[in-house]
Amino acid sequence: MEISCNNSSSLENQIKYIQDTLRTGKTSGDGKYTEKCNLIFEEELKIKKSLLTTSCTHALEMCALLLNIKPGDEVILPSYTFVSTVNAFLLRGAIPKFIDVKYSTLNIDENLIEDQITKKTKAIIVVHYAGVACEMGKIKKISLKYNIPIIEDNAHGIFGKYKRKFLGTFGTFSTQSFHETKNFSCGEGGALFINDENFMERAEYIREKGTNRTKFIRNEIDKYSWVDIGSSYLLSEILACILYAQLEMRNAIQQKRKLIWENYKKKLHDWAMQNDIKLQEIPPYCKSSYHIFYILLSSSEKRERLISHLKKSGIKASFHYTPLHTSLMGRKYGYKKGDLPVTEEISERMLRLPIHNNLKYNLIDFRCFYDFK
Ligand SMILES: *Cc1c(COP(=O)(O)O)cnc(C)c1O
Repeated sequence: MEISCNNSSSLENQIKYIQDTLRTGKTSGDGKYTEKCNLIFEEELKIKKSLLTTSCTHALEMCALLLNIKPGDEVILPSYTFVSTVNAFLLRGAIPKFIDVKYSTLNIDENLIEDQITKKTKAIIVVHYAGVACEMGKIKKISLKYNIPIIEDNAHGIFGKYKRKFLGTFGTFSTQSFHETKNFSCGEGGALFINDENFMERAEYIREKGTNRTKFIRNEIDKYSWVDIGSSYLLSEILACILYAQLEMRNAIQQKRKLIWENYKKKLHDWAMQNDIKLQEIPPYCKSSYHIFYILLSSSEKRERLISHLKKSGIKASFHYTPLHTSLMGRKYGYKKGDLPVTEEISERMLRLPIHNNLKYNLIDFRCFYDFK
């Protein structure tokens, strides 16, 4: 049974909406299709304000600007993440305070956060790795106790849940990615979700080059002018067309990813037991967005062997995230090998199996896994 919900299923609509937009000539952004995307996020996920951006990286940069991050301020975040999670804040002069992850989810270890908080801490940035929620109950308590805002880098987690609440709704801000590699994609794109009204007006200025143009577009003012610092963070309407056509199919896309994930889990169960391999787990109170399916092998040597073994059967398995703290930049901030043991260990042993919207998962021959010695 092949469930069809890949990009080609929405291809016709993608083209139709782009043609529609080209005909109107209003291609620059914040048009009809942008509005439709925002409505889905605001109504379905219960986001106070959604702003489409040119990328998740840029949405993170907007967070740093909105929080007035200054040189010497500190931000707490996991080391096991993509570079943009940290770079957006380093651009404003912040100092990273890297925290180890938990073996169970590869998410930030909530029990290590409080120790790193100082008077200079300006944000706690969490990443819902693979689409599985961080311990938001505990993290929210810490945030309230010290009055430090949470930012969710939700590049993996859109439509996932922690308990009954959607990911992206816990932080003062959350940032989404619609890069080609993500569950929903318009090539390059993102969104900033704002859950605190106090930041809405300024976020619009910053996204529109430091002007109040968004108010002008809404006919709230006669002419627009320079009111703040800012940059060019607004997603083109052409890209919003592509995104909207995919969001229309969100249930089918998420359902298919779930089936792929569950199929791996079921078919690889015995193999994992035989080979001392740990399959990804989802805590019972989390609903995953099924962005990634990963396994943990017993050594990096075994991982190398499995990658080349699977390659022979046409299965392209890959790994990612060289820990940020042991990379060249991390070392410049005083970190060294041994500082975050779980992060260092799992980054050597984790492997991602293919999971994407076009995958014909019923064609995967699981015998090639069982052939592996
Ligand atoms: C993909 C990704 C980003 C960057 O997303 P872009 O939209 O390409 O800027 C940031 N953080 C994480 C965790 C990601 O996986």
